[in-house]
Amino acid sequence: MITIKDVNKSFGDHHVLTDINFEIPKSNVVALIGPSGAGKSTLIRTINALESIDTGEIIVNGTSIHDKKTDINKARTNLGFVFQNFNLYPFLSVLDNVTISPIKVKKQSKAEAEKRAKELLTSLGLGDKFDAYPSRLSGGQQQRVAIARALAMDPEVMLFDEPTSALDPEMVKEVLDAIRKLAHEGMTMVVVTHEMGFAKEICDNIVFMAEGKIVEVAPPDKFFSNPDSQRAKDFLKAVL
Ligand code: ADP
Ligand code: MG
Repeated sequence: MITIKDVNKSFGDHHVLTDINFEIPKSNVVALIGPSGAGKSTLIRTINALESIDTGEIIVNGTSIHDKKTDINKARTNLGFVFQNFNLYPFLSVLDNVTISPIKVKKQSKAEAEKRAKELLTSLGLGDKFDAYPSRLSGGQQQRVAIARALAMDPEVMLFDEPTSALDPEMVKEVLDAIRKLAHEGMTMVVVTHEMGFAKEICDNIVFMAEGKIVEVAPPDKFFSNPDSQRAKDFLKAVL
């Protein structure tokens, strides 16, 4: 579903991604983990072209994302992105936050978009919040609205960049539960996370990055019990 080939990227003379290669089959869930500054956010943002790349290629379900001939707005409808800080539209109700893109980009009717939005919000435990404004919601509720908003476009891939890092501890679970449910439904996902227990439980593969490079790729059982690299051993010692 996702192929990342020989990707390099610099900000000025700072080389932040070096020779990145990996593939994610359909319905696989990959956790991108590693120390702060490793390049995790930059890498996940290149997958939907929120960041450009200097060399290489990223292909999502047959579409070369960074090819000049690609209609990136169309390609992005296939890639749901959930940010650390929710990024909801503050002046729109919950329902309008979820329906705006299906109506504007996918040209759905208002009735059709609202029907689907209500189903998604209800399935995420937000059935009583359709008319609320984001500022009146908890962080965990806002993040679940952000997930509903991404899902409303019927993406084939979901990308999460530290979706629980801005949440109070008691709200982490409700957001992880929502992501876990998507995993069980077969969604292809890339999740940047510091929630090691969660990564271990739901991911097919761990991609461990440090200093702009992929240091190690392994299934969670192997990665968390017996990683090959010293860099990963040191990281796990510090975080577990
Ligand atoms: P991570 O998400 O793993 O913490 P990032 O991808 O955010 O790492 O950052 C990787 C490196 O790139 C860091 O050194 C960061 O300072 C740098 N960086 C990220 N975004 C920019 C930017 N827009 N301009 C310049 N440097 C950046
Ligand atoms: Mg980051």
